[in-house]
Amino acid sequence: MSDPSNEDSPLVIRQQRVLAQFGEVALRSDDLDEILTEACRLVGEALGTDLAKVVELQPNGTTLLVRAGVGWKDGVIGVATIEAGEDTSEGYALKTGEPMVSPDIARETRFRYASFLVENGAKAVANVIIIGGKGRPPFGILQVDSRQPRQFTDNDVAFLRSYANLLAATVDRLRVLGEMRDNETRLRLALEAGELGSFEFDLTTNQVSRSKRYDSIFGYDVAPRMWSHEDVIRHVVPEDREQLESALKTAISEGSEWHVQSRIRRNDDDALRWVEIRTRPDGENHAPTRLVGVIADITARKEAEQALAAANATLEIQVGQRTISLAESNAQLDAFAYTVSHDLRAPLRAMEGFARILLDDFAPKLGKEGARFATRIVNAAKRMEVLIDDLLAFSRVQRSDIALQAIDPSRAFKRAAAELLLQPGREPAKIDLSLPLPFVRADRTILGQVIENLMSNAAKFRREGVPLQIVVRAERRGRHVRIWVEDNGIGIELEHQARIFNVFERLHGQEAYPGTGVGLAIVKAGIERMNGTFGVESTLGHGSKFWFELDAADVDDSASDDRGGKHIG
Ligand code: ADP
Repeated sequence: MSDPSNEDSPLVIRQQRVLAQFGEVALRSDDLDEILTEACRLVGEALGTDLAKVVELQPNGTTLLVRAGVGWKDGVIGVATIEAGEDTSEGYALKTGEPMVSPDIARETRFRYASFLVENGAKAVANVIIIGGKGRPPFGILQVDSRQPRQFTDNDVAFLRSYANLLAATVDRLRVLGEMRDNETRLRLALEAGELGSFEFDLTTNQVSRSKRYDSIFGYDVAPRMWSHEDVIRHVVPEDREQLESALKTAISEGSEWHVQSRIRRNDDDALRWVEIRTRPDGENHAPTRLVGVIADITARKEAEQALAAANATLEIQVGQRTISLAESNAQLDAFAYTVSHDLRAPLRAMEGFARILLDDFAPKLGKEGARFATRIVNAAKRMEVLIDDLLAFSRVQRSDIALQAIDPSRAFKRAAAELLLQPGREPAKIDLSLPLPFVRADRTILGQVIENLMSNAAKFRREGVPLQIVVRAERRGRHVRIWVEDNGIGIELEHQARIFNVFERLHGQEAYPGTGVGLAIVKAGIERMNGTFGVESTLGHGSKFWFELDAADVDDSASDDRGGKHIG
């Protein structure tokens, strides 16, 4: 062993030479395993031991894997592991960051050592930590093993520390290099996936270096060797040049990221293409020396945008035209409804009035036959008045302004029931309203008309000799409420059930069941206007169950559309 204080001793000189040699290897190579193995070889040479290794800390933070080494039997490098517990010198070195030396493993009382060390003839060990990059865990430990018990000197340990630090810097350089390569790969894949060309515009030489994709976007199979800013401009259509130039100037003077869309003419086929260029100036203190960027052919997107804009414009014109014709037909309908309500009513009343006068004042002259005809005039006029009223109600349901709000349907049902029970000449009737009914989102007037029509039909189409029975009940169906109006009347054959909701569709003569055939058409139009649904279940001779379904008033729009409700009526 040499004198550590003597800086010119052959050992110290050898160690310094080894450091210099390793520095060269570390700069030359990008292969971590090669560097680590060479590091082990050189450190063995410097310290005169023939065993050395680098153990790498695994992601679990406690296991160390023998990553590289010299002098070891097969089955150690890349295989053997050490658990860096409290009772191991490796664990201690990792925890404290201090070098740990065991001059004689056989006499070591502080630590235990992995069996492969002893099997490989190691008698003494020196551990120095290889730190990690900034904010990272240690890379591992450089271990020098001696086949004889050995007192490593302070000088040896100092050398090992400098050596391990050099190693740490090299390992970190390779890690950063690896990450950069990964990023480059990711960037290349992203550029390929996005079909983006990339370029670098050197402002000092006015030359643009480009990727292959860049050239193919400009329509070049074989890349032009020189490519300057003027070459770019030459391809841009004249109308777009100024915009591109001024955007470029701003980007350079402000040092800010910039993007522009321009039309270019391609080299090969002179085709007009849309491109989008995004670049970012690069350089010191607002004096960029180059622009780096990407370019994409966005023709397909532009064409789609233009087609969409054209389609929207046509659609707007069409909607405008339809709105006008709708307004016209609405105005006509208004005029029609006005005529019906006012102009038709007046002659009708006159007819009815004069026929009554005939009946009252001229009976003797009319004779029996004449009186019969006059009576028929009165009845026909009355019927026509009902028809006019119903038609007007129908037209109002279709076209009146509506205001949907939370409404308790119970009131309209109670009113309708009271009216039915009040009608003279009705034999006993039972009306069961299962109150209270849930609130629904509806227009008050329209809901009232719907209920009135369903209730009066239920009472009207009763069976001879069977006491009338009406049941009104509600059931919750998800965010909707379904209300049933059930009667024990004559019922409706399945084949007619759909058409009775059309205007003027009736299944019976006036004698048996008077009516206009407008009631259910009002129900249909009214429920549809309130965004609801309706229907009927019926068996001929056994009564009918009419229903309508509206939004429940207590749910907001975000509630799920679950229509499988439960019966609460
Ligand atoms: P109206 O009652 O004036 O005849 P509606 O449009 O209200 O006109 O009804 C159309 C037809 O549907 C009725 O003529 C009748 O044949 C049938 N209908 C309606 N409600 C019932 C009911 N509750 N029971 C049996 N048939 C009915």
